[in-house]
Amino acid sequence: MADCIFCKIARGEIPCAKIVENEYALSFLDIGPINAGHALVIPKNHYPTLFELPDEELAACAIMVRQVAAAVYKAVGAAGLNFLQNNFKAAGQLVEHAHFHLIPRHYNDGFLTSWPGKAYAVGEMEKMLEKVQAQL
Ligand code: 5GP
Ligand code: ZN
Repeated sequence: MADCIFCKIARGEIPCAKIVENEYALSFLDIGPINAGHALVIPKNHYPTLFELPDEELAACAIMVRQVAAAVYKAVGAAGLNFLQNNFKAAGQLVEHAHFHLIPRHYNDGFLTSWPGKAYAVGEMEKMLEKVQAQL
């Protein structure tokens, strides 16, 4: 993808604060951190969302996620860490190259202050389970 910002970073055409890389994945600091130390892990090849990522490249990203998550957590003395991944605009995805967020957390840092869980009506959870399993 010629004009994809993360492809340009992966190709070394624009700079990044690189943390680590392997054959399939690259990690660098997010330029607009939720908290200092916020890191991204991306596949080096262009895939728009999680759904297109081949198993081997996803596995490489996942292993790097765990490695970098632990490093960021320790480096900033975090109290917690969120591993987030946005797919499509409705979910907050701005860069259309799949990526994984590692966000170190501190008490009262103002991020994700609520988790507005809802309740299923009686029987609806079982129906949903069938619908999801039918798509596997
Ligand atoms: P999204 O909303 O797509 O899940 O997140 C995209 C993330 O990429 C944002 O957190 C944003 O700060 C980060 N980002 C966008 N452009 C650049 C860039 O050129 N360099 C770096 N290091 N991060 C970027
Ligand atoms: Zn790309």
